Amino acid sequence: MTDRSPPLRAVRIEPKCPTCGKPADPKYKPFCRKRCADIDLGRWLKEGYRVETAEAPGEEDPDGPSSGGGSGASGQRG
Ligand SMILES: [Zn+2]
Repeated sequence: MTDRSPPLRAVRIEPKCPTCGKPADPKYKPFCRKRCADIDLGRWLKEGYRVETAEAPGEEDPDGPSSGGGSGASGQRG
């Protein structure tokens, strides 16, 4: 039997730079260069920031609304 099946080639999906779509460089995987990585990172940071600020209107005052400038004489202690 001389049935030589073709060598199984490792299915390798070439990663592409998510920023520009160019073949990624193993050095900057999955980006093609540092610049693209920075751009993508910047996007992430921006989005993350936006999500953070999307919180409900601050209504958390564990210390109480009253603070400083109260009534009554209070001498300063050193
Ligand atoms: Zn790129």
